[in-house]
Amino acid sequence: MSSLRILLIGNGGREHALAWKLAQSPLVESIVAVPGNGGTAGVPKVINDTSVAADDYPGLVEFAKKNAINLVVPGPEAPLVDGIEGFFRDAGIPVFGPSKEAAAMEGSKTFSKDFMKKHNIPTAAYENFSDYEKACQYLKSVKHNVVIKATGLAAGKGVIIPQTQEEALQGLKDIMQDKAFGSAGDEVVIEEFLVGDELSILSFCDGTTIKSLPPAQDHKRIGEGDTGLNTGGMGCYAPTKLATPQLIARIEREILQPTIDGMRKDGFPFRGCLFTGLMIAPDGTPKALEYNVRFGDPETQTVLPLLETDLAKIMYACAGPVPYLEDITFKVSSKFSTTVVVAAPGYPESYPKNIPMQVANPPDGINIFHAGTKLSGDALLTSGGRVIAATATGDSLRAAVDKAYEGVKLINFDGMYYRKDIAHRAFRTTDTTDKLTYAQ
Ligand code: AMP
Repeated sequence: MSSLRILLIGNGGREHALAWKLAQSPLVESIVAVPGNGGTAGVPKVINDTSVAADDYPGLVEFAKKNAINLVVPGPEAPLVDGIEGFFRDAGIPVFGPSKEAAAMEGSKTFSKDFMKKHNIPTAAYENFSDYEKACQYLKSVKHNVVIKATGLAAGKGVIIPQTQEEALQGLKDIMQDKAFGSAGDEVVIEEFLVGDELSILSFCDGTTIKSLPPAQDHKRIGEGDTGLNTGGMGCYAPTKLATPQLIARIEREILQPTIDGMRKDGFPFRGCLFTGLMIAPDGTPKALEYNVRFGDPETQTVLPLLETDLAKIMYACAGPVPYLEDITFKVSSKFSTTVVVAAPGYPESYPKNIPMQVANPPDGINIFHAGTKLSGDALLTSGGRVIAATATGDSLRAAVDKAYEGVKLINFDGMYYRKDIAHRAFRTTDTTDKLTYAQ
C-alpha cells in the first residue's frame, strides 16, 4: 500500500469522525472531503472541495483521477445504493463500500428480509406486499402488534410503529397510496413488533472476514425517556452493558457471519462497513432488525474513538485489490464512549438555519464532531437539524457520559437542544421495556 490519498464523500457528523480518525493514520497523505462541513475543514490533512457534486458519480471519478485518489470512502447510503462503487471499480480505484447489489441490503427492506429468511438469520416474522388491498387484508387479520416499513430508502423515516389497527391502516395508506416516502413505499414489509433492547454493531468486512466494533445504543427519539418524534439519532453510547461476550459471540455466530457468508454465496460479497441493527429480547435472544451498508450516524462518532487499530489500514485491507482483513490485528479500547447530539430548535420538524455559533476547544478525551455546520468567512453557522455533537471517552460509562455533557457546554448557539438522558437505559434499575397493546 502506497500512501493514501482519500476521497471522503458526505457532510455529516459521521464524515467528520471518519476524517478525524483517518487523518491520524501515518498511511494517509491527504483527504479530500466532498463536500465536507465546518468540522472537516479544521481537520489536519483534510481539504473540503465543492467543485464537484457529491452525487455526480462520473464527475467524482474524473476528480479522483485528477487528484490521484487511491481510496474512496462514501459516507452516506444514497451513493452506495445508487452504485457509486461500480463507477470507481471500472476506473480501478478501490472503494471502502459495497457494490450496488450488496447495497440493496439497505436499499430494499423486502430484499434484506428475504435474504435473512433464506439464510436462516433470526429476524421478526414478516410478509412483503406490493398490493395495497392485500396488505390491508393482512393488517385486519393479523393478531400480533406490527411494524410497517417502506421498502426503499426514506432517510430513516419509513418505519411506522402503530399503536392501533386504525393507525396501522392509516400508516399503510400514507406509505402505499399517498406515497409519503415516494417510490420507497411501492412495497412494504409488515413485520411482527419485537419487544426488547436495541443495539447496533458496526463491522468491517472484506467479503469473507468480519471484525466488529463495540456494540452501541442510539437514542432515536427527540424527547427524554425516548418520547416524541423519531430523529436521525440524538445520542449514543458504547459498549452497552447488554453486550456480554457471550451475547456478542452468539450474534456473530447466528447473525453477522451468516450474513457475510450468505452475501458471498449469493454472488454479492460485502466489502465495507456493515451496520446491523438488532433487538435483544428480554430472554436474551438476538434478532436482526435491519442492515445498513455504511457507518451509522451518530454511532460512528461514538465507536471510532474506541478503535485502536489504524482505520486507514483496516479500510484498505477491506477495499484494496486483494482483501486481507483477517491478517489485521484488531484492537479496541476497553473504555466507554458517549455522544450527545445538539440539534437546532424545532428539529426534527422545521428549524432555522444560519444561526451563529461558538465552539470552544475541547480538552483531551472530548471530541466535538460537526454535522450541520458551515463556515461563512470566519463565522461558524448552523446548516442543519442535527448540528454538532460532543463525544467523550472514560474509564466507566458514567465518566464518559459526564464528560460528554461537559463537552456540550463548549457549544453555544441560540435555541440549541439536546437530550439530558443519553445512556439512561444503561443506568435504569427496573425493566422499562415498553409493551404495546394492539387494539383489534
Ligand atoms: P429499521 O430502519 O428497520 O431499523 O427500523 C427503525 C426503527 O424502528 C428501529 O431502530 C426500531 O426502533 C424500530 N423497529 C423496527 N423494526 C421493529 C420491530 N420488528 N419491532 C420493534 N421495533 C422495530
